[in-house]
Amino acid sequence: MSVEIDREKCVGCRRCHDVCPGSLIKIGSDGKAFIKYPKDCWGCTSCVKECPAHAVRFFLGADIGGMGSVLHIEKNGELLDWVIERYDGENIVVSVDPKESNKY
Ligand code: SF4
Ligand code: SF4
Repeated sequence: MSVEIDREKCVGCRRCHDVCPGSLIKIGSDGKAFIKYPKDCWGCTSCVKECPAHAVRFFLGADIGGMGSVLHIEKNGELLDWVIERYDGENIVVSVDPKESNKY
């Protein structure tokens, strides 16, 4: 599992840094986030969900059927839109209500 941070999009809010349970994300001297230990990421997606700038992208590897697609998450009112950017250029959007997601 691994995430990538787009430093062009990063606005330096530090949310990803604060939520990462493994302290894998650091803030550079330019105020932008970077992942220092990508191999240690276990894919909890907390940083992906917290980023307000859609700068954190999560790789969906071939081992889980993603074939190199990437995922980012956008807030859509009360919902979270999980946006999968497929390897072939197509986008798939799955809208999730966070208030309902842990119900079962
Ligand atoms: S997915 Fe989880 S473990 Fe991996 S960098 Fe983001 S917050 Fe840390
Ligand atoms: S949450 Fe997003 S915008 Fe904020 S520091 Fe991390 S990558 Fe940058």
